[in-house]
Amino acid sequence: MSKGILVINAGSSSIKFSLYLTGKDGLSAAGGQLRLASKGQVEGMYVAPRFVAAGPDGVRTADHRWDDPKTSHEVLLRYLLDWVEDHLDGAELVAAGHRVVHGGTDFTKPTLVTPEVLEQLEKLVPLAPLHQSYNLSPICALAKIHPDLPQVACFDTAFHRSNPAVAQTFALPRELTEEGVRRYGFHGLSYEYIAGALHQYDARAAEGRVVVAHLGSGASMCALKGGRSHASTMGFTALEGLPMGTRSGSLDVGVVFYLLEQKGMSVKDIESMLYKKSGLLGVSGVSNDMRVLMASDDPRAREAVDLFVYRICRELGSLTAAVGGLDALVFTAGIGQNSREIRALVCEQAAWLGIDFDAEANEAHGPRISTPDSPVSVWVIPTDEELMIATHTRKTLAEATRVAA
Ligand code: ADP
Repeated sequence: MSKGILVINAGSSSIKFSLYLTGKDGLSAAGGQLRLASKGQVEGMYVAPRFVAAGPDGVRTADHRWDDPKTSHEVLLRYLLDWVEDHLDGAELVAAGHRVVHGGTDFTKPTLVTPEVLEQLEKLVPLAPLHQSYNLSPICALAKIHPDLPQVACFDTAFHRSNPAVAQTFALPRELTEEGVRRYGFHGLSYEYIAGALHQYDARAAEGRVVVAHLGSGASMCALKGGRSHASTMGFTALEGLPMGTRSGSLDVGVVFYLLEQKGMSVKDIESMLYKKSGLLGVSGVSNDMRVLMASDDPRAREAVDLFVYRICRELGSLTAAVGGLDALVFTAGIGQNSREIRALVCEQAAWLGIDFDAEANEAHGPRISTPDSPVSVWVIPTDEELMIATHTRKTLAEATRVAA
């Protein structure tokens, strides 16, 4: 019988979901490829809650609003779950897989949630106060609504646990490192998906040294060696590394002392500035949206784009050094998949690495945007974090069922 896997990606104001169905042989590998049946979200939570869903073709299949802005998380999630149960197409819902931003040092792979696991994950909230609790609340709510439904936590940090110790350590007193103040890295589900998908495009490079540029509203880069993460630009939080839509990226911490001591800013104000008012938005004063910046003739918009590209190219050199060379570069996420201009600017500045850029292929969005003879192959590959979560959930559940049997 076909099985359904619900994927949940919950943030501060929305709960995104995707429903995947297996083939008729269910969870086993013989169950075939997972097929997306529906996706949607509860949005506008605590302001104007609304549930929308669409089929894989993007055609809207649900649109429901609540009058009460304070409608509880549990009520919203119960509605989502009932809707999913009604749209299983004859399949049986067998699990929910969740994106969880932080797995600390202990969670190195997707994990079946138990009360003990949940307790451990709650202890990690201080490491990601802006995300972790939002990721955990639908797990708690689902456990109440549907206690028999197995839930699997899939971590943004887990894929980077293969990084050597030097890539994970800040030069701080070691007690702090031991306490968990270290570089974790994020966007791991996206990088893991790309590491797998690259095999279909360039099997030789997929086994070699690859830098993946995940350029979305949140942006980071990761160096892979033999398909495993060796280094990445994000660190203790998702603030380190590249400038992003509204996040500053790496910053001399001396700036924070200056803002505290000389400008009298509070910690909360600084946090809000670095997460929400910096990056492309802060530099341009125009927008955090790359499309708007590219279309703008305001010179500050150009400066923001130039800084973004400059930082990508510097990180590319640094990540290449971390894995001792470069066989392939992959662009992914909103900007990486869609912006011909950003890809062209990066590839031109990175020509020294052995990138022979194919402008015509880039116009067509690739997938290969380097010439056939280019020493480094360059690719545009759409990421799919939800499919990665569904795949992990299915595998984790199949393993747990085997162990139990
Ligand atoms: P996230 O999942 O991190 O919210 P996305 O991966 O959806 O973000 O990426 C959002 C970014 O992608 C935005 O900056 C948006 O401007 C950019 N983007 C989307 N389409 C295009 C395009 N055609 N050209 C340039 N940038 C684009």
